[in-house]
Amino acid sequence: MTTTGPPEPIRSVVIVGGGTAGWMAAAALAHHFRNAPIRFTLIESSEIGTVGVGEATIPTIRRFYAALGMSDAQVMKACNATAKLGIRFNDWLRPGHSFVHPFGRFGQDLNGVDFHHYWLAARTAGDTAPLGDYSLGAMLAQEGHATLPAPNPPSQLSIFDWALHFDAALFAQHMRRFAEGLGVTRIDARIGEVALRGEDGFIDAVVLEDDRRIDGDFFIDCSGFRSLLLGEALGVGYQDWSHWLFCDGAWAVQSERAGDPPSCTTVTARTAGWQWRIPLRHREGNGMVFSSRFQSEQQALDELLVNLPGTPTTDPRRLRFTPGRRDVAWSRNCVALGLASGFLEPLESTSIALIETGIERLKQLFPDRRCDAGLADEFNEQSAEEMERVRDFLILHYTLNGRSGPFWEACRSLNMPSTLNKKLALWRTRGAFLRYRWEMFSPASWLAIYAGFDCLPGSVDPALAGMNPTQLTRGLHAMRQSIRAAVADTPTHAEFLEIMEASA
Ligand SMILES: Cc1cc2nc3c(=O)[nH]c(=O)nc-3n(C[C@H](O)[C@H](O)[C@H](O)COP(=O)(O)OP(=O)(O)OC[C@H]3O[C@@H](n4cnc5c(N)ncnc54)[C@H](O)[C@@H]3O)c2cc1C
Repeated sequence: MTTTGPPEPIRSVVIVGGGTAGWMAAAALAHHFRNAPIRFTLIESSEIGTVGVGEATIPTIRRFYAALGMSDAQVMKACNATAKLGIRFNDWLRPGHSFVHPFGRFGQDLNGVDFHHYWLAARTAGDTAPLGDYSLGAMLAQEGHATLPAPNPPSQLSIFDWALHFDAALFAQHMRRFAEGLGVTRIDARIGEVALRGEDGFIDAVVLEDDRRIDGDFFIDCSGFRSLLLGEALGVGYQDWSHWLFCDGAWAVQSERAGDPPSCTTVTARTAGWQWRIPLRHREGNGMVFSSRFQSEQQALDELLVNLPGTPTTDPRRLRFTPGRRDVAWSRNCVALGLASGFLEPLESTSIALIETGIERLKQLFPDRRCDAGLADEFNEQSAEEMERVRDFLILHYTLNGRSGPFWEACRSLNMPSTLNKKLALWRTRGAFLRYRWEMFSPASWLAIYAGFDCLPGSVDPALAGMNPTQLTRGLHAMRQSIRAAVADTPTHAEFLEIMEASA
C-alpha cells in the first residue's frame, strides 16, 4: 500500500548499536542530512561491547569515507591501516597451491573479445602463465608492493583498485568522532525494552534499563547478531543458509606483528574451514572460521594457534553465527544494518561493504513518518538480491575446492542455488559471465575465482579461431612484461605505508 496526503517528515532517527554498522550509519546519515532538521541519537552499551572483528574491506570503503571528506591517508593514520590489494587464497584448490583475487582487472581486451579468451587460447597453445600475471593488482600483492592507481590509467593493464585492513575499534571511533562533530547524540546505556505502537506495530521508543525512554520516528537496528529491534521486537524471521555455507563459528585472536605486512589478506584452507591473517600496522588480526559439524571448537582453536604468524597478544575470542539473512531488512519504521540484518562468513570481506550499500539504499529511499510500504519493499528486494549474489560467490569457492577430508568433500557435493548453477554452466560451456542485478562482484572477480580454482571453460570465443598462436603468445608475453616493469617501479608495501603516513 502506498501513502497519500502531505509528507510527514521524519524529525528523529534512533540508531541502536555503536559497532562499525552503527557509527558508519550515524556518520553517513548525519552528513547526508546535515541541512535537514533531523535529530540523530545513537545508543550503545559499552558493557555489552561490539563484535570486535571486521578488519578487512573491499575498495568501496574508500568511496564511503571519501564521500565524508576523509582522505585515505587520514583514515589509514587514524585506524593503523595497511593497504589491501586483494586476497591470497592458500591451499584451497589443493595443499601448496596459491592464487590472489585482486581488486581490478586482468589483461587487455582486444577487438571486442574479453581478455580471458586470449589467455585461454594461449594456454591451449602451450603458454601456461597464470592469470594473475596479467593483473597489476595481483602482481603488486604477490611482490609485497603497493602504490596508488594512476588517476588516468594509460591502458587497461594499469587498472587496479585497493582497500584497507584497519583496526575495527579505531575505525568505529573515527566514525564516531565525525558523527558527534555533526551533532549526533550518543547514549551509553543498555536497552531493556522496545515499545511498539498499538495501532500499527511501529516502534515508538526504546526504553533503557534505567527507565529512560528514547522516542523516535525511525529506528536503525545496528545491535549486532541479536537484532534487538528487527528480529526480537518486530519478530522478523531469519533465513538459514547453513545448507549452503557450512561454517558457523569462528575464533579470533590478535598477534604481534610478524615481519613486513603483506599488501593482501591471506586466507588459508584448513581442516574444516579457513584461517585469516589481516596485517595491520601495529599487529596482526587472525582468526579461524570453521564448521562445528566437522570440527570441535577446541580442534579449531588448536589449529589456529599452531598456525599463528606471531605470538598471540589477546585471549582467543569465540564467535558463533548462522549464515543467512533476516527475511526482510526493513519492517515498519525500522531498518537493520550490519550483523542485525544477516551475516555471511568474511571470506571475501563483504559485511562492511553490505553496511555501506544498506546506508546508500536508505539515503535513496529515506521515507517520511508513514514509511510507505513501496519504499520498504524496494529496499528489501534490493538488499535480498545483493546478499544472495554474495552468497553465491562464496559458495563458488567451496564447490570448486579440490581438497580431501569430510568437510571439503561435503562442500564439493552440496546442492548449489539455481542462480549459481546457471552462472557456472554458462562459464563452463562458453567462458561467458552472467551478471545479475545488485552484484557486488564484477566479472573480473568471478574470473579470478574460476581461474584460481582451475575451473576453465570447454571452449573459447570462436572469434579467436584463426588466430596465429605465435602472435598470440608474443602479445601476452608483452603484457606480462609491461606489468612486471610497472611493479618494479613501485615501493614496497612498508615504504608505501611510510609515504601515506607522511602525507596524512
Ligand atoms: C569472525 C568474523 C570476522 C569478520 N571479519 C570481517 C571482515 O574481515 N570484513 C568485513 O567486512 N566484515 C567482517 N565481519 C563482519 C563485521 O565484523 C561486522 O559486519 C561489523 O563489525 C558490524 O558489526 P555490527 O556493528 O553490526 O555489530 P556489533 O559490532 O556487534 O555492534 C552491536 C552494537 O549493539 C550494541 N547493543 C547490543 N545490544 C544492546 C542493548 N541491549 N542495548 C544497547 N546496545 C546494545 C552493542 O553494544 C554494540 O555497540 C566479521 C564478522 C565475524 C563474526
